[in-house]
Amino acid sequence: MIPFLDLKKMNMKYETEMMQSIERFLHSGWYILGKEVEEFEQEFAQYCGTQYCLGVANGLDALTLILRAYGIGVGDEVLVPSNTYIATILAISANGAIPILIEPDLLTYNIDPEKIEERITDRTKAIMVVHLYGQACDMSPIEVISKKYNLKIVEDCAQAHGAKYGANRVGNLGDAAAFSFYPGKNLGALGDAGAITTNDNDLYMKLKALRNYGSHKKYENLYKGVNSRLDELQAAVLKVKLKHLDYDNGKRREIAKYYLDHITNDSLVLPCVGNGDDSTHVWHLFVIRTSNREHLQSYLTTKGIQTLIHYPIPPHKQEAYKEWAEHCYPISEQIHNEILSLPISPVMSLSDAVKVTEALNEYEEKI
Ligand SMILES: *Cc1c(COP(=O)(O)O)cnc(C)c1O
Repeated sequence: MIPFLDLKKMNMKYETEMMQSIERFLHSGWYILGKEVEEFEQEFAQYCGTQYCLGVANGLDALTLILRAYGIGVGDEVLVPSNTYIATILAISANGAIPILIEPDLLTYNIDPEKIEERITDRTKAIMVVHLYGQACDMSPIEVISKKYNLKIVEDCAQAHGAKYGANRVGNLGDAAAFSFYPGKNLGALGDAGAITTNDNDLYMKLKALRNYGSHKKYENLYKGVNSRLDELQAAVLKVKLKHLDYDNGKRREIAKYYLDHITNDSLVLPCVGNGDDSTHVWHLFVIRTSNREHLQSYLTTKGIQTLIHYPIPPHKQEAYKEWAEHCYPISEQIHNEILSLPISPVMSLSDAVKVTEALNEYEEKI
């Protein structure tokens, strides 16, 4: 069986280093907001090229708190791609704001910059871009729009740690950015974890209080905050894995390149790499499309190849958003009906990529 993702193998590669860090953490006697979190924040800010990084409990909190810190709430509208993972949209709803869904580009699966402007109203406050599957959105036209209408750009970087748009890394392409370190992400902890990056000092100071009961000083509360802190333990683990992130992303890139160069079956649409030569895709997912997805997926299962769907139901078809049931997002629906994610990870062998490729090239579409 070729697994979609072998999480255990991915972590065992760094077992010795992680065990040393965990031991250091255990023996420190300090378990909340200490040296590990502070050091990770500094190292991750430096990695992303931003002035600030702030650890939080998970990616959804990171997104939710950014909007809250900007004062975006009831009556405000936030633009967001219609094919994103539900968490991006939940962050908007959690603040009482209204998510306005924008269709993606069918080639890159990222928000289509040409469809943004027509949805802007005088209530629009921000554009939430999602660097889906590991590739940065086309930011230049989005920046122009954000300046013209005075909108904040909030990046959802949960799937794109380390990806570059030109010379800059994601996390440093807008006003503020949210990261998730959920175990399966490109930079994954051993549990829930997240972070916010920004160059905005006011936002940083406010978020620093918001994540810790709204307190900037022990027992004094500036805001009605929350408890959303990054654990010292997770920060200790993340510090180890951050050192290897570029290497691990390089391994993913090797698998992706093999797939792109060798999958030749005409009934399959391969992912498209855009944004020019300097940009890098970090291949959180390798997503192909085909008209009879269920048939392809069961064929691959019989060949011992595990695949997943990211995601099977578009947000506007979710029960949680039944108020959108009649809305029409044809590109998003097509994507959700046709996509299939192939195995890819930093620990996948090239020989397994060869097997997946051979199976795909032998596949005959059933119409
Ligand atoms: C994983 C993910 C999130 C949520 O992160 P959590 O840490 O699980 O809360 C948000 N947005 C996208 C695009 C994701 O893939």
